[in-house]
Parts: sequence; C-alpha cells; structure tokens
Amino acid sequence: MLGTVARNILSGFRGRSRPQCRPGSIEGDGVQMSNLKLPTRSEDFAEWYNQLVLRAELADYAPVRGCMIVRPYGWALWENVQQALDRRFKETGHLNAAFPLLIPRSFIEKEKSHVAGFSPELAVVTHGGGEELEEPLVIRPTSETIIGHSFAKWIQSYRDLPVLINQWNSVVRWELRTKLFLRTLEFYWQEGHTAHATAEEAEAETRQMLDIYVDFAEKEAAIPVIPGRKSASERFAGADQTYSIEAMMGDGKALQSGTSHNLGQNFARAFEIRYLDKDGALQYCWTTSWGLSTRFIGAIIMVHGDDQGLILPPRLAPVQVVLVPIYRNDQERSLVLEASGKIRPLLVEGGFRVKADDRDGVSPGFKFNDWEMRGVPLRIEIGPKDVAKGSFLFARRDRPGKEAKYSVPLAQLPDATGKALTDIQSSLYERALEFRKSRTKDPRDYAEFREVVEGGFAHSFWCGSGECEQKIKEETKATTRCIPLDQEAGKGACIYCGRPAAEKAIFGKAY
Ligand SMILES: [Zn+2]
Repeated sequence: MLGTVARNILSGFRGRSRPQCRPGSIEGDGVQMSNLKLPTRSEDFAEWYNQLVLRAELADYAPVRGCMIVRPYGWALWENVQQALDRRFKETGHLNAAFPLLIPRSFIEKEKSHVAGFSPELAVVTHGGGEELEEPLVIRPTSETIIGHSFAKWIQSYRDLPVLINQWNSVVRWELRTKLFLRTLEFYWQEGHTAHATAEEAEAETRQMLDIYVDFAEKEAAIPVIPGRKSASERFAGADQTYSIEAMMGDGKALQSGTSHNLGQNFARAFEIRYLDKDGALQYCWTTSWGLSTRFIGAIIMVHGDDQGLILPPRLAPVQVVLVPIYRNDQERSLVLEASGKIRPLLVEGGFRVKADDRDGVSPGFKFNDWEMRGVPLRIEIGPKDVAKGSFLFARRDRPGKEAKYSVPLAQLPDATGKALTDIQSSLYERALEFRKSRTKDPRDYAEFREVVEGGFAHSFWCGSGECEQKIKEETKATTRCIPLDQEAGKGACIYCGRPAAEKAIFGKAY
C-alpha cells in the first residue's frame, strides 16, 4: 500500500521549490495561504469549504467554467480512494477496462428514460478534423450505452456470463455552478458494469457493490453511511432500482456518496445484449452499473474537517505523519535534522506515509498550521530537548490544543505511531456517527419535521407516493435521501399525508 504512492508524494513534495518566507507571513502562494484563518464552519460552512479546498491545495478552478483542476495533494488522496476500492472490486472478480470517451449520439437515444435523463446535460461534438461530423458524438456522461454495445458483441452463451467490468475515468455532465469536487462539469469516478443470466444474480451484484461502498466508506474513510433504496424520482435514468449510500455532512446536509443500479433488462433490450441459455433459448441479459466519484472527497472534507482545516482519515491520508524539526540556531538545527533523518526511515520501514518538513526559514508554528490545514493525522515534533531526552512529542490532528499532545520514547515510535493512527481512524468514525445520531430525529409531526430537516435528517414514515415527496420538497427543500435497507418492523402514518405507511425514509437537504 505504502510503496509507490507514498514515494511519489514524498518526492513530489521534496522536488518542489518553495519560496522562503518570514514566519507567519501570509503573502505569496499557497504555502502562505494555508496559514490564513478559514471562516468558521458555524459562520459560513459553504465558504469554509471553498477556501479549505484551495488552501489545502486539493483542487483549483479551471479556465472553463464548471471544470476543476485536481492538484497533486488532492489527486494523491483520490489515488488512495482508488486503491482501496480497486482492491475490493478485484477481490470480487471484477476486471478493469477502458471504453472510449466519445459515444455516437444515437447510442444515448436507444434507451428512452436514459436519454430523457441525460439529454439536458450532454456535451455534443459536432466537428472533427475541421469538418462537420455525419453523426454527432457525445462526450460520455456515463458509459452504459457504449458498454452495452460491446456486451452485445461479446456475450453469446450462458458460458460467457457473468461479465464483470469496471473502468476508472472521467465523465462530462454539463454544469455551470462550480463547487469543487461536489459539482463540476467533468468529474472523476469509477463505473462498474456487469451482465448476468438472471434477475436474481443482477440484484445480488447490485447489493454486493452497495455493501462494498459501505465497507469502504466506513473502514477507509471513517464515514458512517446509510445504505438504502432510492425513491422512483431519485432513481438513475434507465434503472429498475437504484441503491445509494448517504452520509451526513458537518452542516447536517446529506451527500449521496455512491450508487449501485439494477438496470433490469432495460439496456439489454435497447442494445440486444442476449445469450443462449442451457436449453438453447435466446434470453436477454440482466445488467447493473455502480459508481463512486471524486464527490466522495467532498464528503471526507465536510464530515471530518474543522475550523483549522482538513482532517484526513489515516487510512486514506497521502501523508500520515509529518515530522517537524524545531530549532533556534545552526547547532540545534543540525542536531534535530539529524534526529529527523533517523526517525523518518524508521517510520517508512514501519509502513507509514511520512513527510519530514525541513523547510528552512519557516517557523514551527507556521508549519504546524500548514499541516493542520492539510489534515495530516499525526505530527511529531523534534526539538533539541526531545533529542536530548530521547523522546518526542506527538500531536494528534483530531484533538484540540493540549489534549492532542503526548510524549513518546524513541524506541516506541513505530508502535506508538501505529496506535495513534488506528485510534484517530476510529475516533473520527465515532465522532461522525455521534454527530449524525444527534442530528437524526423521528419527528412527531410535519411541523417538527420541518425543523429537523433544517439541520439534519428526518427518519420518517412515508407512504411512498411521489406526490407527498414532491410537496415535501417544495415546502422544505428536503428530499428523500433513501429508504434505509435496515427497517424496523411496524407500520405508521406518512409524515405528510397521514395515510398508512410501511417504511421509513431518510429525508434531508442534499448537496
Ligand atoms: Zn404520504
């Protein structure tokens, strides 16, 4: 895991020439910017988010409105997300492939609800090589159609099934309101596409991938999620059933963090994906698709971040440990740098992603703020007194001020580092779960419902009618996030119309 990613990140940082600045100086580029105070989350959550993304150097705006530039630190985080997911996909038998960016426009039009859902967001290429194209091409908004086309060619008999494919790519859905990671015209993701012989197998696959997203979100990103079924109005265009994982952000709003679709035979019929069964009869396949995107980085930021900046879950953090040497003169400098030079390989050998911040001419306080902004989970301070004592100060990013700090003897460094990172990982999860619980209510009536969805989730009985859903949306801006798979037994009255309801849904305002 550590291997190349960590090395690339570290060498990436090392290779950068950073301007010298006076301690605490705020002029200049991003290095200095990270030391500016953010707006607090309570005063302006949206602006806190926007500034954090820029100052932590995760992403930047692009010349084309709606696009984003993912900076190396943000991409390193995405690479860790990719690795954690890719491992799970491969363990469950999926293979990666690459399909073209350009899709004949006629493909998109083959599946009726798919074209209806995606038409308003399509980017269409009409010219190529200086000439008008005979048939316009669309830039993929998702790849069900082009992959369906290929599946139809590749699948002949039941022996060819199942086909389990994933691809890592970017897609384009026309969008002008830019919110880095959360809402961009082009975004990065993985899209899984599978074909099966039976409806049951397709449903099992859809649910398996949802489970994988839950496992990833909770174990790797320390984000508690609610897995559930989407209502008909929130379903993917062309799916029989859409499942999602929903997470609560630090402002109480919801973020759909991954989706898994059972496409039934809709795409199989549109693209003639058929197979001969054991009796020699021609059957349509059952297909699925599932995706998780760079939006998830937005979730990591908004679930864990605090007023000082980002807090990264150790399992995904590009840099897990930062070593900060502290010195006042040349003699101290050579002493602490020598110590830092010995500690770093010790930790790297232990499998940790470590960065030694030996920038000269920048105060320790400046460096502390800088790495806090970037959300590095653990800081180890190396001062002359520490070197003399043979023990070093640990500072956990997930705890405030003095509570964060404790001393660790040199001999225990690797073990203590492992323990600290494991603790941070689980405490981030617990904290996020507690927060979600504190903001999730089962309101007694619609008046209370309206209050709850202002800053959290309402977990309410819903009759299932699209009319009630629509009215609630109009009146409160809250939508059905999902119908949780985990339902308590029992019936109740719909929170809106009072008619009998068999299931509870999660309602909330969403990103
Ligand atoms: Zn109702």
